[in-house]
Amino acid sequence: MRTFLITGANGGLGHAIATQALQTEPDSRVFLGVRRGRERAEALAERFPGRCSCIPLDVTRLAEWEAMVSRIVSECGRLDVLVNNAGGHDDGLLAMMPPEKWSQVIQTNLDSVFYGCRACLSPMVTQRSGRIVNVSSLSALLAPPGQTNYAAAKAGVVALTQSLSKEVARLGITVNSVCPGYIETDVLAMAAAARQETISRIPMRRLGRPEEVAMAVLFLASPAASYITGAILKVDGGIL
Ligand code: NDP
Repeated sequence: MRTFLITGANGGLGHAIATQALQTEPDSRVFLGVRRGRERAEALAERFPGRCSCIPLDVTRLAEWEAMVSRIVSECGRLDVLVNNAGGHDDGLLAMMPPEKWSQVIQTNLDSVFYGCRACLSPMVTQRSGRIVNVSSLSALLAPPGQTNYAAAKAGVVALTQSLSKEVARLGITVNSVCPGYIETDVLAMAAAARQETISRIPMRRLGRPEEVAMAVLFLASPAASYITGAILKVDGGIL
């Protein structure tokens, strides 16, 4: 029985990752970190009674992480997989960016991954096993204009992943990252013309589906990926 903790689990990607973890591992126990939005995550927990629970978690608060991890360990005795998925962007040109907007995006996307890894490493080190998958973004590698805050945060996630993977490799813990391109979730809301223009720039000529990112995350979290650590896996239809 493997225990999963997935953050931002009410969102498009988080919900897809949690659903596949529940469906592909019939004896998995899945904890869903939720903040404001909860409906989708609660509906998923109802579909899998006894195997799936929603727990309030603002990923920018270390105390909430520590409470979450102690609850999981006291209930299940272990924590096998952490998926740092929660995140979001708030775009704008740097010259006009208020410092609060910079800090908020860094906190949501990068500080959160530091807190999550720190809190979850404690049981994983004790177990001498664990899988951490950090959801970064293609923006970390492409660094588009208008996303200095988000691109810097997600590039930080890539560097954190690679550095941490070396710190914990000998303890049986792997740390990997996925970089999704344009995936059809709520964050991608755009006008029809912009959507068509975006699609025309993707070699596969379509947006990605949340399930396609979830498959990559669950592969990196699986026993099949036992010799993979520090990897940065693009899921982008061939953009980069
Ligand atoms: P969604 O907006 O659908 O989901 C984002 C989730 O993150 C929401 O559940 C949101 O919860 C949660 N979240 C945001 N801030 C916090 C916080 N401080 N504490 C707890 N939860 C928080 O977006 P996606 O599912 O598309 O995005 C998931 C991840 O994938 C993000 O890290 C995003 O940057 C990344 N990504 C997405 C891409 C895409 O094209 N969709 C492309 C590249 C990367 P709440 O309801 O409380 O706001």
